[in-house]
Amino acid sequence: MAASTLTMLRERVHGDVVMPGDVDYEDARHVYNFMIDKHPAAVVRCTDASDVQAVVNQASESGRGVAVRGGGHSVPGFGTADDAIVADLSAMNQVKVDAQRRIARVGGGATWNMMNEGTTAHGLATTGGIVSTTGVGGLTLGGGIGYLARKHGLSCDNLRSAEVVLADGRIVTASADSEPDLFWALRGGGGNFGAVTEFEFELHPLGDVYGGPMLFELSDAPDILRFYREFIADAPREFGGFPAWQIAPPLPFVPENRVGEPFIAIVACWTGDHAEGAQLIDAFRDVARPVSEMVGPMPYAALNSMFDPLVPRGLQHYWKAAYVKELTDEAITAHLTHGPRVPVVNSTMHLYPINGACHDVAPDATAFAHRDANFACVIAGMWPDPADNEANTAWVRDYYAAIAPYSEAGGYINFASMDDQAKVRDNYGTTYGQLADVKRQYDPGNMFHFNQNIEPAR
Ligand SMILES: Cc1cc2nc3c(=O)[nH]c(=O)nc-3n(C[C@H](O)[C@H](O)[C@H](O)COP(=O)(O)OP(=O)(O)OC[C@H]3O[C@@H](n4cnc5c(N)ncnc54)[C@H](O)[C@@H]3O)c2cc1C
Repeated sequence: MAASTLTMLRERVHGDVVMPGDVDYEDARHVYNFMIDKHPAAVVRCTDASDVQAVVNQASESGRGVAVRGGGHSVPGFGTADDAIVADLSAMNQVKVDAQRRIARVGGGATWNMMNEGTTAHGLATTGGIVSTTGVGGLTLGGGIGYLARKHGLSCDNLRSAEVVLADGRIVTASADSEPDLFWALRGGGGNFGAVTEFEFELHPLGDVYGGPMLFELSDAPDILRFYREFIADAPREFGGFPAWQIAPPLPFVPENRVGEPFIAIVACWTGDHAEGAQLIDAFRDVARPVSEMVGPMPYAALNSMFDPLVPRGLQHYWKAAYVKELTDEAITAHLTHGPRVPVVNSTMHLYPINGACHDVAPDATAFAHRDANFACVIAGMWPDPADNEANTAWVRDYYAAIAPYSEAGGYINFASMDDQAKVRDNYGTTYGQLADVKRQYDPGNMFHFNQNIEPAR
C-alpha cells in the first residue's frame, strides 16, 4: 500500500494498522484455517465503530476491498484477502448483559466463549454454535445453528438489532423498526451488507444442561442413525443433540484400548429438567450399549466448549454442507459407507437438527430461507498437516457426492468451502432474489464481497 495511504490510515484509526514487513504481519494476515494463505495490504485492529468507518472510507477512496473479520473462523478464509484492507473486529468483543431485560449487546468481533462468559453468570443464554471459539459475527449473520436452536431458533432469530457500518460509510442501526430491509438481510445473508459493530440479542433463562457425548460401536451405527431419525422428528425442543462420526481422542472417559478408533457418536444436549433428560437420553442406550460416554449435568459453557481442543487454530480445513429434509434409508447407507472412513480425530460429520423452533419462522421472514429442512449436515475435514490435503479433501468430496442425491441442492452458507461460490444461489435458496435487491440498495458496488457473495441486482 502506498506510504501516503498507510499514513492516512494510521492517522484515521485508533487501533493498530499492521502492514507487510511489520513483526506481527505473519500472525495478523492468517485466519483460523491455515490452508488460507493471503496477503492483505493492511490489517486494521479496529477498536470501535469509527475505526471501522475509517477503514471503509479508506478502502472506498483507494479502490480496495474490505475483508471484515469477526472470529476469523470462516473455512474459505473470508476474514483475509490478497491486497484488501482487513477490518479485524476481534478487539471489539465487549459483551454487556441487561439481565432484567434479557438482552445482550455484543461487539462485532466477540466469540461465543466471551458471550457465554457474559450471559451464563446471569443464568441466561441464546443460540450459539457447537465450538466456543467461533465468532458471534459470522455465525449469526449466516444463520447460527447450535445446541439451543430447536428450543430458541437460530442465532439470527434471536437478533433484535445491529449497528452496521455501510459501504458508503454511514453508521446505521438495523432492527424491525429501523432499516427493516437491512435487518431482514442480516439474518441469514452473511457479511454482504456491511460491517456489524454491535449485535443486540434476546437471551433466555438457562441453567446447567444435561448432556455430553456417547460413543457407540460402528456396528450399531445403522440402528443409532435410524433411531435418531425417528426420535428427533418429535423430540421435545429441550433436546438439541446430534449424531457425529468421531475418532476417539485420548480422554479419560475413553477406554485406553479404544483410543484412535472411529465411532458413531450422539452428542446430547438437554436444557430441561435433568431427571427427565436422563430418562429421554436413555432411549439411545436402549438401542445400543455405548462403548463409553461422558453424559451428565454440566454448565452450558462447558458443553459449548467441549470440542474446542479438537479444533485449534492452524489446522487445514475443507468442508461441505447439505440441507436435508428427509433422512432416507439411502442417505443413511451413504453415511454408513463414508462416515467410518473419517481420516483424523479432528474431522467429523455432524448432522444438526434444525426443526423445532427453527420451523416457527416463515421462510421469507428472514433471509435464512431453509425453514423446511430438518437437518443441516456438515462434513468437516480438519487436519494438521498440509501434506495430507489431498487425502482429506477427497474424503470430504466423496462423502458429499454420496449424500448429495438425498439432500437439497443448497447447504448452509457458513459450512460451505472456497469452491462453493457456484452453489451460492442454492445455498441462500428462495430469498436470493430479495437479498440481491437489498444488496443493490446497501452495497451497489459490492464492496463487501469477501463472503458467500450476493451480487447486487441490476
Ligand atoms: C470449528 C468450527 C465450528 C463451527 N461450528 C458451527 C456451529 O456449530 N454452528 C454454526 O452455525 N456455524 C458453525 N461454524 C461455521 C461458522 O458459523 C462460520 O465459520 C462463520 O463464518 C464464523 O464466523 P466468524 O465471525 O468466526 O468468521 P469470520 O471468518 O471472521 O467471518 C466469516 C464471514 O462473516 C463476515 N463477518 C464476520 N463478522 C462480521 C461482522 N461483525 N460484520 C459483518 N460481517 C462479519 C465476514 O466478513 C466473513 O464473510 C463453525 C466453524 C468452525 C471453523
